[in-house]
Amino acid sequence: MPDTMVAPSATVSDATTFDAIIIGAGIAGIYQLYKLRALGLSVRVFETGGGVGGTWYWNRYPGARFDSESYTYGYSFSEELLNEWNWSEHFSAQPENERYLNHVVDRFGLRKDIQCHSRVASATWDESERQWNVVLDDGRSYRSRFVITAVGPLSADTLPRFEGIADFKGRSFHTYRWPHEAIDFTGKRVAVIGTGATGVQVIQTIAPLVGELTVFQRTANWCTPLHNKRITEEEQARLKAGYPAMFELLRQTPGCYIHMTDPRGTFEVTPEEREAFWEELYAKPGFAIWMANFRDVLTDLKANALFSEFVAWKIRQRVKDPAVAEKLIPKNHGFGQRRVPQETGYYEVYNLPHVKLVDTRETPIQRVTETGIACSDQSYEFDIIIYATGFDAVLGSFDRIEIRGAGGVTLKDYWAEGPKTYLGMMSAGFPNLLTIVGPHNASTRCNIPRCIEQNVDWASDLIHYAQDHGVTRFETTAEAEAEWSRHVEELAEGLLYTLVDSWMTGVNTNVEGRNVRRVLQYQGGAPQYREHCDEVAKAGYKGMVLDRG
Ligand code: NAP
Repeated sequence: MPDTMVAPSATVSDATTFDAIIIGAGIAGIYQLYKLRALGLSVRVFETGGGVGGTWYWNRYPGARFDSESYTYGYSFSEELLNEWNWSEHFSAQPENERYLNHVVDRFGLRKDIQCHSRVASATWDESERQWNVVLDDGRSYRSRFVITAVGPLSADTLPRFEGIADFKGRSFHTYRWPHEAIDFTGKRVAVIGTGATGVQVIQTIAPLVGELTVFQRTANWCTPLHNKRITEEEQARLKAGYPAMFELLRQTPGCYIHMTDPRGTFEVTPEEREAFWEELYAKPGFAIWMANFRDVLTDLKANALFSEFVAWKIRQRVKDPAVAEKLIPKNHGFGQRRVPQETGYYEVYNLPHVKLVDTRETPIQRVTETGIACSDQSYEFDIIIYATGFDAVLGSFDRIEIRGAGGVTLKDYWAEGPKTYLGMMSAGFPNLLTIVGPHNASTRCNIPRCIEQNVDWASDLIHYAQDHGVTRFETTAEAEAEWSRHVEELAEGLLYTLVDSWMTGVNTNVEGRNVRRVLQYQGGAPQYREHCDEVAKAGYKGMVLDRG
């Protein structure tokens, strides 16, 4: 089986009863702890991993880095923190990101409330005590009035359902469970399965290091250049001076990125202007090409097809073998309908003599063997197999915890036909439970720390309000939940991403039952989402029952 790893944990007290329990010590859990501590609550964070950082603790595969601009990604809640931290690159890599999150934890004295190596197995609502009973997978149990899940949308990693995965005698890893020690790729025959954002980062990074690289691609993606660079001292000073204006801009864009959609339509400009604009976007760093494109590229099929043809042309220019280039050009979806992987020399990898691309739709993988991978046409021998096969997105990390609400129903069963939520932060029948970055929330379509901060601020205000007003139990009404869920579904109607299978539509062939496309995200944009949340709070938490009993 793929390797996992273990790391040391911090010391926490023996207490077993808290005001609040937070599940997960990633970006959301860390900030949630900071906020609740500031309110004077007793809090315990349970974290499966051996350290803090969530995504940036687990995903330590070669090449893992931001694809949001680093300075737009860090926390914005503390001016001191903003001023003292220097990001070294425009798109910073995993080791620096993990260091940053550890720095935040230590700077604000949070570590003593974070219990690592502690996977939450279940959380059960106790109606008579108005408390949650939280049990770890080693049997230890804890109680709290409030539970806040900060489990992340991409933390339930999934392996393919191939026969023989356990038989492989070489080393194998899922990218999410990458070992802490360095892997020596020198001279090794390496397979990478998966060509999403993760696979692309791994492939382009290890290609120069390995003996032979075989990439197993099932679906090609539209990848565009990241254009990462180091941040110079001058830029650093300019960025810091510009923080207030930049964070203000991030509050206004739909996904809290620094890129604003171009107000023009694709066909409102001349062909020459259009091509010049697209060349400019292709040369720009980050997601500008996805988010600052013409306003109709992600909503109009004709505009989308034309831009897709532009990117296909770029791929054909960069990949020398035309047959390989054709395999790398997506045929079943247009640009931006799935998450756009950001690349650095990715396409050029396929010009290297020791790199081979296998299209698993042409020659499907039949099984993993003791020595490699057997496809329908031939068998391959490997020393290392890397599974860049993604996640049971958004819902998977909830499903892996048995969360049992007031009526005895589990959240997994309650969401079996798709999520039902109010504001993407709570569900009827699950009192005093807040789901940061939950389904139906704007955060999974967002430069995530920006939306996390909004979610956490809102959840903290609610808990503060409850404490101040003697509220011992809060819960959304079924009506408010139904209305919100309907609203979220309506917002997604007509959007081109809904026409395609991907983690964003909740499809995962490796998980039983995840073969139906679902609306998992709030698509109205972060500013509109924020307005909804603020309105609910201002109206004394309308759509919820707050009970002082
Ligand atoms: P992903 O986008 O879901 O990609 C998984 C890949 O594995 C796909 O190519 C998929 O093929 C393939 N795959 C899965 N099961 C397979 C099977 N049984 N047989 C053959 N191929 C199989 O997952 P990901 O690349 O880990 O990325 C997930 C998300 O994480 C990204 O979209 C992004 O939001 C986030 N991420 C962010 C960063 C960053 O910010 N820097 C970096 C990496 C990832 P199909 O496409 O055919 O399903």
